[in-house]
Amino acid sequence: MLGFLPTHLLERCTHHTGPEKSDSRFVLHWMRAALRFDENPTFDVARHIAFQKGLPLVVYQGIDERYPYASYRHHKFLMEGSRDLERNAKKIGVEYFLHVSRRGHRDPVLKMMAEGSAVIVTDLVDLDPWSDWTESIKELRPVIEVDAHCILPRQVFGKSLDRPFRFKNATKRLMKARMGLRWPICDLPIKKLPDGYTIPFDPVSAIEELEKDGGLGIFSECDIDPTVVPVNDLIGGTEFAESKWEKYMQEGLKKYHRTRNNAADREGVSGISPWLHHGMIAATKVVRDAISLGGKGPEKFLDEMLVFREHAYHHCHEIKDPKRWSALPEWARTSWRERLAPTSPREVSVIERGETGIPLWDGAQKGLLRHGVMHNNVRMTWGKAIPGWIIDPEEAMDVTQSLNDRYALDGRNPNSVAGVMWCFGLFDRPFDPPSPHMGRVRGRSTETHASRVDIDRFLKWVCAPTMGGVREFAIVGSGISGLFAAMILRDLGHEVKLYDKGKRLSGRLANRLTSDGSSFQIGSTHIDGIRPWMARFLGEFDLGGPKQEDMSSNRAPLIDILHHFAGELSINFNTRVRSLHQTEEGVTLNAIVNDEPIEFHHSNVLVAIPVEQAMDIIDVDLFSGRSEACWVAWGPSEVVPDNLPAGWSVRNLTNGMIEVRLCEKSSARHVDETKDRMASMVPREIGLPDDGWSSHLWRYSRPVSGPGRVIHHGNISFIGDGFGTPLGTIGGALDSAARAVADMHLRSSEKGRNGHYLSKQTSLNEW
Ligand SMILES: Cc1cc2nc3c(=O)[nH]c(=O)nc-3n(C[C@H](O)[C@H](O)[C@H](O)COP(=O)(O)OP(=O)(O)OC[C@H]3O[C@@H](n4cnc5c(N)ncnc54)[C@H](O)[C@@H]3O)c2cc1C
Repeated sequence: MLGFLPTHLLERCTHHTGPEKSDSRFVLHWMRAALRFDENPTFDVARHIAFQKGLPLVVYQGIDERYPYASYRHHKFLMEGSRDLERNAKKIGVEYFLHVSRRGHRDPVLKMMAEGSAVIVTDLVDLDPWSDWTESIKELRPVIEVDAHCILPRQVFGKSLDRPFRFKNATKRLMKARMGLRWPICDLPIKKLPDGYTIPFDPVSAIEELEKDGGLGIFSECDIDPTVVPVNDLIGGTEFAESKWEKYMQEGLKKYHRTRNNAADREGVSGISPWLHHGMIAATKVVRDAISLGGKGPEKFLDEMLVFREHAYHHCHEIKDPKRWSALPEWARTSWRERLAPTSPREVSVIERGETGIPLWDGAQKGLLRHGVMHNNVRMTWGKAIPGWIIDPEEAMDVTQSLNDRYALDGRNPNSVAGVMWCFGLFDRPFDPPSPHMGRVRGRSTETHASRVDIDRFLKWVCAPTMGGVREFAIVGSGISGLFAAMILRDLGHEVKLYDKGKRLSGRLANRLTSDGSSFQIGSTHIDGIRPWMARFLGEFDLGGPKQEDMSSNRAPLIDILHHFAGELSINFNTRVRSLHQTEEGVTLNAIVNDEPIEFHHSNVLVAIPVEQAMDIIDVDLFSGRSEACWVAWGPSEVVPDNLPAGWSVRNLTNGMIEVRLCEKSSARHVDETKDRMASMVPREIGLPDDGWSSHLWRYSRPVSGPGRVIHHGNISFIGDGFGTPLGTIGGALDSAARAVADMHLRSSEKGRNGHYLSKQTSLNEW
């Protein structure tokens, strides 16, 4: 079927037969991993097939919410790549359609596009879920997978060898025949879709979305992790990739053999891997350029490209499910089984936030968390330290992989899979005598590495705060949304001050103590609206269901989440913010502190309070919302009554205490009552004496209406359970907090600093 293809393309193709359709309308290039038109074998193959069949060629790209670790960071990088694709498609004269999966746009678009296509041509991707997606699309149409990432096509070699030097020797001849060759230009004419043919979805214009608000609007509708914030100084797409590579070619590559191991020198390596990962620059071009430059630096660089990188791709091609533990060599697994378990294990959350107390390691992790990059030489030391903190080595490898995949712009790639697994013995030999914690797996001491690096210079670039420098924030409200935003901002290197009108941490997760000192919630008893990405922040609190129904359990009370998030943050209690004003310099807060009026000035403010209270403190009509009231009363009772008025609920608090919650209607009817009267009225209503009873009114217990999304007004942002989804849930409150922080990063990107869309965002009509 593909005999008409030139050899350099044919050898990169894997043909999967599938149901054919006689009245198909076009050839579909499903662009998923090689996001470029230049020197792109997948595009060239699709172009040849379309020409051969006399059909239009359509390029489709989908930015999905289901790729592993989908986040604002990866989405922004992808979207910037799409912007260049959109521009270049126009220049080439090919139809390019982008779908971004989001609220109201979650149809199976690829399947719908497949309907009209004669054949689907796509990039060869060996990792899940992409390889699974190939399997399912094969059921619909013939599929051609094309290797657009390697110099030596995986279809030609495609084998994993136990050591890199063996791979080098085995591929030397094949590689030599291909490396450095000029890529043949394909300029076959491209047919367009006939007039009147409409594709089955509304395509997104990345140019327009990024121009409008840096992606803020469209990402707010995507179910993706906002805590992995966008990186502003690394821009996705072919344009940035090519200029970055060009600059490195001219200024750095010649010295690569001398500079590559110095992690303090960010410019000592090309840093091109995120763009290679997304195929935004052709590996064939990078290798050709390095060969033509010649010398010791390029030679070392070519070793990385042609041996380590290519080996990783070929390895993942041959090995099914390459990330699994059993993909490690037998000697390494045995050695891990026999090693001494670490004596001072660390919590994964401590590791993830870069708080182990080891400067080099924490710096490396912070760089990953904040900037999406890690120096390759440090990455090896970083990966080898983790099994020293996690008892089960298999879990340690999963944690290492997940940190890399979640945060690194070049994660989720065969090269990073192999890199992480190398830390656990892959592609390596055993070292004897075994060491206590690494066994026979090669060790790499953080201390020794640190002694070889100019640590201050290293920490300066990795620990630099996000958004180009330290920003200063005030947060009004230290409930779960305010604290979560504060924690994220602090982890990203910013200064945060919190103000709360209460005396201590509580908000709507407030608790009280029973006579035996055990704690019970008088606000929320459940955590609802939790997204998968939140699990790692909630840790032991994420019980995914009812909490504290059974008071005899040892579950941590919800209030503890607030202490967990608050950490070392300083909170100004007894400070009621009465009003906020946007000024030229920032934001002025008028507050009452211990009955005294005080003014505070801050650059940026996050308001994290119930929606009606938020409406009260801002003098502009920005949004509206309404919350339900809820009376809660508790006291002694020998029985759990079953004669409650309709809509009321009761909980057994053990120790002879019960708690009663009134329905919305009854609560609203009694909203002006005093606590004392309600503490007497509620037990009497259910036939109990009122001795020892107390009550609390939640005037704004949960919003029933509200914006449901973060509202930005100049330097003020409104978050909380009225500003996230699902409305009125802890999940909604957390989501709004994280999205507000991610939005700030989008707003502070280069364009935002130029004021282009920042000024637009202050207009309410834009929301
Ligand atoms: C009775 C009840 C039952 C609930 N049940 C559930 C449930 O089953 N599942 C679920 O997911 N969620 C439930 N919720 C909702 C959940 O508790 C909230 O969504 C979440 O706690 C909201 O957190 P927040 O940070 O947005 O606001 P809050 O927790 O209200 O925090 C706001 C903070 O701001 C402070 N503040 C307010 N105004 C000012 C001001 N002007 N100046 C300074 N500080 C100020 C307050 O003191 C408070 O500490 C329930 C809530 C209640 C009350």
